[in-house]
Amino acid sequence: MTVPEFDKLLKAIMEDVKVDAALSKFERLKTDNDRINFILSFPRFKHLKISEKRCEKCDKKCEKMKNSAEDTSKNHWEVLKYYNEAIKFAPSHSNYTPFLYASRSGVLYSLQFFSLALKDIARSLNYSLPIKTTINLQVMRGSCYFSMEKWCQAESTFLGVIDIIRSSSLNNVEKVKFTGEILPKLKYVKEKLHNKDKEQPKPNHDKSLRSIADFPSLYNGPNTNIPAASSALKCNWTPEKGRGLFANQDIKIGSVVIVEKPFAWTSSKEAMLDHCLHCCKYTIAPIPCPGCSSVCFCDEECREKAMNQYHIFECPILDHILESKDLSCMGLLVYRIIITANTQAITRSEMATVLHKTEANENNTSVESKLNFISESLSCDETEQSLNSIPVNFSSESYVSVYNQVTNTDRRTASDLLKRTVTACFLLRCLQSVVGDNKDEILVGSRLLTHLQSCACNAYQISEQIVPQGDIKNSKEAEIGGAVYPTVSLCNHSCSPNVVRHSKGRYCIVRAIRIIKKGEEILDNYGPHFLANTQSERQIQLQSQYFFKCHCEACSENWPTSNHLKITKSTYLCGNCSKCIGSSLTVFKKCPHCKKKLNSKGFDLVLQDLNKTYKEALTDLLQGNILQSLEIFLNYAENLERMYVFPNMPLVSCQQAISLCWSLLGNVRNMTN
Ligand SMILES: [Zn+2]
Ligand SMILES: [Zn+2]
Ligand SMILES: [Zn+2]
Ligand SMILES: [Zn+2]
Repeated sequence: MTVPEFDKLLKAIMEDVKVDAALSKFERLKTDNDRINFILSFPRFKHLKISEKRCEKCDKKCEKMKNSAEDTSKNHWEVLKYYNEAIKFAPSHSNYTPFLYASRSGVLYSLQFFSLALKDIARSLNYSLPIKTTINLQVMRGSCYFSMEKWCQAESTFLGVIDIIRSSSLNNVEKVKFTGEILPKLKYVKEKLHNKDKEQPKPNHDKSLRSIADFPSLYNGPNTNIPAASSALKCNWTPEKGRGLFANQDIKIGSVVIVEKPFAWTSSKEAMLDHCLHCCKYTIAPIPCPGCSSVCFCDEECREKAMNQYHIFECPILDHILESKDLSCMGLLVYRIIITANTQAITRSEMATVLHKTEANENNTSVESKLNFISESLSCDETEQSLNSIPVNFSSESYVSVYNQVTNTDRRTASDLLKRTVTACFLLRCLQSVVGDNKDEILVGSRLLTHLQSCACNAYQISEQIVPQGDIKNSKEAEIGGAVYPTVSLCNHSCSPNVVRHSKGRYCIVRAIRIIKKGEEILDNYGPHFLANTQSERQIQLQSQYFFKCHCEACSENWPTSNHLKITKSTYLCGNCSKCIGSSLTVFKKCPHCKKKLNSKGFDLVLQDLNKTYKEALTDLLQGNILQSLEIFLNYAENLERMYVFPNMPLVSCQQAISLCWSLLGNVRNMTN
């Protein structure tokens, strides 16, 4: 294995700064501009030219994968995997391409992914094909509609094939054979169409569509000032914590408080192989990038958007970023922030029409003209908006929201800043090599550096729930990428959060996991959680990554971690005044605070009943009844909030069950093979 270019460079610079007290000179620099200037003046950087480096297309690999796929002893899933690889590596003018799509459509048909099969059939039919292949594909198209019980489309497709067969140059024996295959199906379709009105609608047999597609809607509608957040929230500024989101009314458990599209995002290197680069969804039958073999897309629409908006700027140098562990996901994310800022500036300048006309395949020609706006997009006056103010018209799509994120520059060590500066300069040279233009390099470099700092505290993971063979109990969360969500970033941290984040596609959905009362702050969790980490572990982690001392409830009261909580008796709350009445119900006849009579028997009965329903719902969840179980969990959690002092194990377990439901309603990958 060769050492990645970036790693070599970083090592060399670290050696360079040891001489001539360069590090202490660097340490005294005040601004990101100065730091970029300083590093760019090193001879290593001054003349650094980044050559193209991408995972190239390869005829040989394509052919090898195709041959493996045609080895029929393998199962459908395995065959599909080989075709996916063959399609990914096929050079853009490969003669194999139409046949690869044709063959893959057959595999998808066998696996009952009919809509996906239809897409591959259409892709294949875009090319001129031998007549028999065309007929076979059209018959399969008809059969897909047939299996999906789309009788009208099935009929017109079958009738169309019969026409093709009739007017073809096939001999009569062949014509009879092909037509003979179609006629019984066509007859069945005609009967179905005839009896259509009398029949009940059937469930959908297409496996391609088997996911819950809808986004949940924001509780109480969107906020006028912060459109990605619920109108039940408002943004306030406090001297201790800066900006934060607060409830302006009581919020129930399960309420959706933020639904946000990222400003910029990227899949991790591994996820790029089988997740759409644009929408982040796991794809069973991906289509390739015309330029490289590192990434894939779920369909043409996502590919066109990705190409036009950002991938043309990264495709030629992508492997430089991916191959270095130190750069990888974060480096690419920061690179994308700059590209997105630029693309949006173009859009703002009504260049949208120009972008729209650019074909995905012309990816190499038009890059230069597209980056003209970069200086304007990065230095617009709006960026002067202060971090210390409450945002007005806070948009997830505006660069200002990202530019204003906390960088913690003053708290970083010189070597931390040095490493980030070298990274920024390397990314700058990558960008310059793609656009062939060095203008505004200090500005662009310093913005890259700013985001390399702010993303360390403001980037979130995009996740996916992996379910092995439908086994929900053993499903687990996996990270598939990283993203910048400006609105979500407004939430401050607590080791005992009252909201949880889940991914759906590349979107982030934030929901209340505790009752949030009017005036209370919306508190997210940045990683260290009281159930998993001790107070001192949490403080160390938060200090080193986020540079603050946590004063949350769990930290100030030193709550027990999960292991200790399991053996701790729960403490009850008075149903009337909500004050703590101890861990035994038999001690008091009256509440010591509000003097109201306590009905311990009634309390016990209610609890028993709730517990029983909860346990049944847990079993139900493992059978896949997500929505039904979720409703019961939410009700149980609301009740437990009123009955016990938090933290208590029953509510913690219930929250985990709720969170699992939300994961299963988000990005899910069913491991079928
Ligand atoms: Zn997609
Ligand atoms: Zn590419
Ligand atoms: Zn804390
Ligand atoms: Zn009371």
